[in-house]
Amino acid sequence: MAVERQRLFFALWPAPAQRAALSHLAGRVPAGLGRPVSLDTLHITLVFLGAVSTEQRQALEAAAERINAPSCLLTLDRFGYWRKPQVLWAGCASTPPPLLHLVAQLQRAASVCGLRVDTRPYQPHLTLCRKVRRPPPGLPGFEPLSWPVAAFSLVESQTRPGGVTYTQRRVWVLAPRADSTSGGDSVE
Ligand code: ATP
Ligand code: MG
Repeated sequence: MAVERQRLFFALWPAPAQRAALSHLAGRVPAGLGRPVSLDTLHITLVFLGAVSTEQRQALEAAAERINAPSCLLTLDRFGYWRKPQVLWAGCASTPPPLLHLVAQLQRAASVCGLRVDTRPYQPHLTLCRKVRRPPPGLPGFEPLSWPVAAFSLVESQTRPGGVTYTQRRVWVLAPRADSTSGGDSVE
């Protein structure tokens, strides 16, 4: 019998207030550059996992449970463009070390489960437009936007006739920042 698999990825999934701020940022992208992503799916991928079996998912969730990483603040401060995947994104000049640490732990968990992970240096990016066929001429600057990273999610990607849908399956709250008393929101 064929093994059932889900297409999964770990992501930063914005809380509603954060999503509103990100949607505002998406509105700063010049019109006509490609296909804007749907605002209700804006996210930052941490680790793309691909097709995951039930056993692998269980092991990943157990590993995620054990992760010990602090919250941090991600500051989006620039637009960028990647030619090969043809995406326009918002990213940051510097990635907070706790976020790199979190990604490294998630990558390790995925490798242990036999999943192949991207080995390129991690660069957080919020994809805003797809099918941007040529480099946009001069992207505007914008007021830096702070994103309090207080949780991470396991998200399922499903391809349906109407397009791809994303569903958060699990959320893990990170430890409070050393300089903050605020915790994270649990979604599920
Ligand atoms: P589609 O592939 O149908 O255009 P999508 O790219 O939005 O849709 P997925 O391919 O399921 O959906 O990807 C889910 C998330 O993981 C997206 O943020 C995508 O950019 C990211 N992703 C997909 N493949 C990889 C990969 N090989 N390495 C890193 N991130 C990836
Ligand atoms: Mg894809």
